[in-house]
Amino acid sequence: MARWILHMDMDAFFAAVEQLDHPMLRGQPVVVGGLGPRGVVATASYEARAFGVHSAMPIAKARMLCPHAAFVPPRFARYEQVAGQVWAILASYSPLVEPLSLDEAFVDLTGTERLHGPAEETAHGLHRRIRAETGLACSVGLAGNKLLAKLASEAAKPGGIHVVHEQDVEGFLSPLPVGRLWGIGPHTAKVLAERGVHTGGDLRDVDASLLCSWFGPRGGAHLWRLARGLDDSPVVPAREAKSISQEVTYPEDLFQEEVIAGEVRQLAVALAARLVEERLLATTVRVKIRWADFTTRTRQVQLPEPTDHPVLIADEAVALLDRGGLHAESGVRLLGVGLAGLVPATFRPEHLFAPSALTDALREVLSRHGPERLTLGFPGGDRRPS
Ligand SMILES: [Mg+2]
Repeated sequence: MARWILHMDMDAFFAAVEQLDHPMLRGQPVVVGGLGPRGVVATASYEARAFGVHSAMPIAKARMLCPHAAFVPPRFARYEQVAGQVWAILASYSPLVEPLSLDEAFVDLTGTERLHGPAEETAHGLHRRIRAETGLACSVGLAGNKLLAKLASEAAKPGGIHVVHEQDVEGFLSPLPVGRLWGIGPHTAKVLAERGVHTGGDLRDVDASLLCSWFGPRGGAHLWRLARGLDDSPVVPAREAKSISQEVTYPEDLFQEEVIAGEVRQLAVALAARLVEERLLATTVRVKIRWADFTTRTRQVQLPEPTDHPVLIADEAVALLDRGGLHAESGVRLLGVGLAGLVPATFRPEHLFAPSALTDALREVLSRHGPERLTLGFPGGDRRPS
């Protein structure tokens, strides 16, 4: 059966939310990003893009190109809230919604015709509803697979709908620069350019055996399929992981503050390891404490940016003990740490954030030894919660 896959991408999402919430910014160049000396642009409004400002550009350069722009620090909690509204709309059309990042998702509309009408009408309805219910513009691509749908939504930017019917696939791909095809990185694009292959049409004209001699059997076969717009990868709905947590009841009550802080730190690091493993980032850290008399308290803090950074998460968790008045009044029988507001790691604001070297090192340790081997030095001993 032929499939209908929709790709939805919010336009200049962070900047658009700022313009929505602050009417005086509407129609003005807006740059959302880290405002520190090493800050980088997260999103630029279309008005700022006209001056050459784009994502991942150093803020200092953006200030030079567009000094009169409004420079705004990101408000991830708010963006997440708006994204939640958008997800709810997408989910009302299909159970198969696969988020790629906070503002981008695939929706499998195959077989939804009886409920919602032809896929093309659904695409228009969904596009209208997002505009009407969130006040924000999005671009929508509709095609027979994820590859083509993603390319179609790019073609629809900003604010449009682009449908690629089966008979139009060749005409749609032919003029596209090969570097735009999903899955062709700068290196492959360069190798292709050196061999005179610049567009989708050029790529389709290259023999399969020649592609395989350039890129090996797998790489060659992949490019051959890309050139024909072939892609049978399924839309994989996101696992429902709104929060993760871990708690430990101790065989003997804990009294010493350093020991309690150390345990909380261990729990936080173990959870950060799970985030890394599942490629998620957390925006909220919670700490739960239960005393010997069973009184229980929970405190939470919203992080300035989503993260999976074990040290930052552990520091926030320990700070909650101090700030939240969770000091040991009597013995502590249970400690828990939770992470919530989880978003896909594709949303990592890399450039806005602390060095990711530690996260990389953590990923390395995890892949070699598994999470149970992970521990972090802390003052007060090296015991791990059981
Ligand atoms: Mg977007």
